[in-house]
Amino acid sequence: MLKHTKIVATVSDLRCEVDFIAALYKAGMNVVRLNSAHMNEDGFARVVGNTRTVSKHIGILMDTKGPEIRTTTADAPIPLKTGDRIMVKGDPAGKSDTQCICVSYTSFVADMTVGGDLLIDDGDLELKVIEKHADYLLCEAQNDAVLGSRKSVNVPGVRINLPSLTERDHTNILYAIKHNLDFIAHSFVRTKQDVLDIQTILDSHDSPIKIIAKIENQEGVDNIDEILEAAYGIMIARGDLGIEVAQEKIPGIQRDLIRKCVSAKKPVIVATQMLHSMINNPRPTRAEVTDIANAIYYRTDALMLSGETAYGKYPVEAVSTMCKIAAEAEKTKLSANDIHIPVKGDDLDVTSFLAKQAVKASSRLGVKAIITDSYSGKTARYLAAFRGRSTVYAICYRERVTRELALSYGVWAVYQEEDKQSPRDYFMTALHNLIEAGRITNDDMIAYLSGSNSNNGGTTFLELNKVGQVFEEGQKFQLPSFND
Ligand code: PGA
Ligand code: MN
Repeated sequence: MLKHTKIVATVSDLRCEVDFIAALYKAGMNVVRLNSAHMNEDGFARVVGNTRTVSKHIGILMDTKGPEIRTTTADAPIPLKTGDRIMVKGDPAGKSDTQCICVSYTSFVADMTVGGDLLIDDGDLELKVIEKHADYLLCEAQNDAVLGSRKSVNVPGVRINLPSLTERDHTNILYAIKHNLDFIAHSFVRTKQDVLDIQTILDSHDSPIKIIAKIENQEGVDNIDEILEAAYGIMIARGDLGIEVAQEKIPGIQRDLIRKCVSAKKPVIVATQMLHSMINNPRPTRAEVTDIANAIYYRTDALMLSGETAYGKYPVEAVSTMCKIAAEAEKTKLSANDIHIPVKGDDLDVTSFLAKQAVKASSRLGVKAIITDSYSGKTARYLAAFRGRSTVYAICYRERVTRELALSYGVWAVYQEEDKQSPRDYFMTALHNLIEAGRITNDDMIAYLSGSNSNNGGTTFLELNKVGQVFEEGQKFQLPSFND
């Protein structure tokens, strides 16, 4: 099934066999997420190695922890009933147990006040502070829950004085650079500077890794315009966002953030609890099905699975269910709700202009496929932003770019060696390969966007033609070029 919406699946080092990742890929996963809050270097190495064994086209995204607080590990799950009392300490090295929950932030007790709320594991467990002592808080459970290891801790309204980047993040980023991962998703981005801090590290190592800003609190929402200037794309991290901000505001924030990303022609991922019930059940709830479809109707590029694929009982089913819902939503979305992309002022460039015409041709002239050769992926991302109905085939000169495009809506990216071919022959080879792959036929109208200056001179022309016609003309068919 060729769906246009991209799927990011979180994979844990505790379940990352080649066969498992291959099954997720076959079911429709495009990007593997490594959640650095739960993994060490050995774990990264296993997931990265196995993912690459499955396919060189799967993007690999690593999260940073950012200024977040988590509970520490617990040797056994900790059951809590409403009214139970338990101690909470700021002790990153301590273990959590039925007597005491330890959290990763040393000054935690000092920052809290009696009567304050702690929301643990995306809010699954609510604790109220009853007493505050020098080195611990006494808290009361407000609901029944079972607490596992390393769960998120949110304290809405309390400004936690943690730096944007922890030492461990720094080490993990160096790992990502060394092993050529594709994306770093930075947690709790509050300002443009948070993104630039990572970009500085990447630049000092000449790394092409792309930064995804995770928007998970009000500050990130408020500063979205400046954040988007610096980031490659964003993730709407609804898990933390739904706790840091009143939950009822999430749908509106999601819609606004998607709109801003599409207008800026940058990829956007909607994340967390998309198929949460499938952690334990083979079938999703009606509300989850509708949530996925609505994210697509709002024009997201990508959807993310977290616990569903990391440790849930039905990981492959979760990906294939998401895929089926996506394919149907793509068919039934209304073009009247397309997001207007300004092609004026600063955005008035040749690539935007031609990309828009190519997508228009798909609806007005029955163009079946939009093809573009790609050095940097820019033209393909621009085409993706116009959210046409035809698939965009990005023929990439570099393997890495195929993975970067794994977050862009409607883009099917392949690597094709340049091999000293003329631009014309490169295009002809691409056409042959697409026919062989069953993506196009001789009877199809296609659009081709490319540049007459080779070596990344940018997009300069749009060719609309019938595949069969191009082949019939043989050597008489030429493309504009400065080089021949
Ligand atoms: P997380 O990010 O799973 O790393 O917390 C996503 C979210 O908060 O929604
Ligand atoms: Mn989060």
